[in-house]
Amino acid sequence: MSAIPTDPDPFPFEGGCSCRALRYRMATRPLFVHCCHCRWCQRETGSAFALNAMIEAERVQLLQGEIELVVTPSESGKGQKIARCPHCRVALWSHYAGAGDAVCFVRVGTLDAPDHLPPDIHIFTMSKQPWVLLPPGTPAVAEYYSRAEHWPAESLERARALKASRPPAGPTAG
Ligand SMILES: [Zn+2]
Ligand SMILES: [Zn+2]
Repeated sequence: MSAIPTDPDPFPFEGGCSCRALRYRMATRPLFVHCCHCRWCQRETGSAFALNAMIEAERVQLLQGEIELVVTPSESGKGQKIARCPHCRVALWSHYAGAGDAVCFVRVGTLDAPDHLPPDIHIFTMSKQPWVLLPPGTPAVAEYYSRAEHWPAESLERARALKASRPPAGPTAG
């Protein structure tokens, strides 16, 4: 699907926090990019939405520094772990209960070239700020969505491979 020779794959590329103590590399294109308009994301960012690139944690390499994982409440009630710089406290990515530590939700704005990752879908548009106008052509859903309906085949395959590679599920899986 991405075999257009005139459109070179920009990956890998790097990102980091504001004080530059933390630097990381995103090795490949993410699985999918969510633009989330839920109230929780609005509060967490202090803005109108969050832009998260979902990617296998093994494809996010810490180049410099040590992250601090801060357990933060999430809407599901199961919490999320937010990876922050221990110095400037900027948040680089989150791990959610569902996929656990195997998947990072990278905050797209922390990449050096965030322009490469526009949203693949807008979610929780039922709480979208009314002045945010969504572009035609990008899927938008009132709440959440089915991966099978929206993800490209390659991402579905990667998700299957990730699930298969993980150790047998413990009591907190799911
Ligand atoms: Zn920092
Ligand atoms: Zn959200």
